[in-house]
Amino acid sequence: MFPFGSRSAPPPQLPRPVPPFPGETTASYIYRLAVANELHPADLRAHMAGRREHGPVTLDALAATTGRSQHALAWALPELRPGVMPRADPVLPGHVRRTVCWRCAARRDSFPYATVWQPAEVSICPSHRIWLGSAAHPRLRGQYDVGGLPEILQAQGRHCRLASRRGRQAAIDAIAEASQITALWARHGFYRDRRVPLIQELRGEVPLTGKLPPGDEVTAVGTYPETVDLARVLAMPRWRNPGAENAGDLQQFEQEVRSCTGIGYEWKDSRYDPLFRWFQKHREALLPGFPDPGQDEPQGQGIRRLASTLVRQARGNSPQ
Ligand SMILES: [Zn+2]
Repeated sequence: MFPFGSRSAPPPQLPRPVPPFPGETTASYIYRLAVANELHPADLRAHMAGRREHGPVTLDALAATTGRSQHALAWALPELRPGVMPRADPVLPGHVRRTVCWRCAARRDSFPYATVWQPAEVSICPSHRIWLGSAAHPRLRGQYDVGGLPEILQAQGRHCRLASRRGRQAAIDAIAEASQITALWARHGFYRDRRVPLIQELRGEVPLTGKLPPGDEVTAVGTYPETVDLARVLAMPRWRNPGAENAGDLQQFEQEVRSCTGIGYEWKDSRYDPLFRWFQKHREALLPGFPDPGQDEPQGQGIRRLASTLVRQARGNSPQ
């Protein structure tokens, strides 16, 4: 389609310069652009570079190839913006890669697996109310229509407020921790009252055992409201970074979880209570004289000692 060699003129414009999605990854856009013009992506890259060896995709070559302005392309394709490191992951702080909403893709008659960078707290397409995936499970393919599930739509609002109040990265951390805990609860069928009606609506049936198998793609969306509410607790400074002046005790923590999540949480000193372990981990620095696990004694023994100390405190039986 063109003579190889070093090119002094810009590459000719393609006959079908399809538009990029907002936030689209460069690789995704190049793939879609190539397919729309019946080219192999490698050939399109060579077309833009003017030589067989692949060079980086540049704004000026892409602008010439698509007829779109460099400004518009840089706005839509964050990896090509000046000052952004294209190989960084994520290229934008607090963003995750997700498959674009299938209805947005269908509206443009686009390849359905276009990939975009999105703020981590945006889990639902605002135009079509399609579940895209949580920050903790950004690559799951399951996209569900949640337009008829107000509990999930309201949880999206609380998720955005959490990111706004605590910061995007703090929200990402808290959601990741909370989603691990709620996924484990779902796997064991614990605290199922909020989850079961959602699974019924999303899937049309609930497993007879009430338990979701590991890796089930409905887990992230079915546990989303409880995950967001639990993350709001885990992001609170008095639980996350407790100091001697603001530290609450285990019973207060239990109460906070109950009131924020609506779950009848009861702490247990058990490996099946990951929330209790989370609380333990964030209290270690507050217990004077508590040995650094792994230095003075084996870690398992240290954790057991911390657990028994917290349990005594929670029962109002702390040694004087
Ligand atoms: Zn959409």
